[in-house]
Amino acid sequence: MNIAGIIKASLIDYPGKASAVFFFGGCNFRCGYCHNPEIVNCIHSIMEMEEVFEFLQKRRRFLDAVCISGGEPTLQKELYSFIVQVKKMGYLIKLDTNGTDSNILKKLVAENLLDYVAMDVKAPLKRYDEIVCVKSDKEEIRRSIDFLLSNAVAYEFRTTVCKELLSFKDLLVISEELKGAKTWYLQTFQKQGELLNEKATFSAYSEEEMKEFAKKLNETMKRNLYPMGTNIKGEFTCVNVR
Ligand code: SF4
Repeated sequence: MNIAGIIKASLIDYPGKASAVFFFGGCNFRCGYCHNPEIVNCIHSIMEMEEVFEFLQKRRRFLDAVCISGGEPTLQKELYSFIVQVKKMGYLIKLDTNGTDSNILKKLVAENLLDYVAMDVKAPLKRYDEIVCVKSDKEEIRRSIDFLLSNAVAYEFRTTVCKELLSFKDLLVISEELKGAKTWYLQTFQKQGELLNEKATFSAYSEEEMKEFAKKLNETMKRNLYPMGTNIKGEFTCVNVR
């Protein structure tokens, strides 16, 4: 296992729980706006597995959950055995993934080893390669989306929105592709330190623009789900801004 970073205690990474976050090095995407180049390019683990388990054992009384993030953690060959061990300690587990391995996702959920999944949806499927800067397997990503839409596990989709990369029209296409989703976060692009593509210039939409996008997308997704407008009481909120 290649651990590139750790947050020892977080109140924001697992919904409503105190968690530790482990960032696994390596990724099969090369999103230009990625603000974790040192994690994506990491080849040497900063911690031995024994240290990780020792740490988690000591913190068991103070932490509820472990978040497994990256990079892309499903690339780690020992991910399954790592999660089995952590689960045995009684932790809730959240997996952050870009959805490029639906099989491991299904296997982990089938064995009750995951409690929450956050999947990045980078772009409309047709535009994926442009955004992730590699040739991607769109069918596999579709399979991961469909699996989460089946509600086998608690989940959220999330999309980082850069002005230069995604327009409102793109978000509308994604909303079609995520039809039936319960939770979709639009993440405002934030320039934090060095980006994976040092040469590109990326910027964020304003807070008002992001909120307006979310409002319109919620209306569209509601109409798509309930064309007659009869089946839903109260506010329909799938799309949120973060
Ligand atoms: S933003 Fe893209 S390149 Fe960076 S870790 Fe996520 S999927 Fe990988």
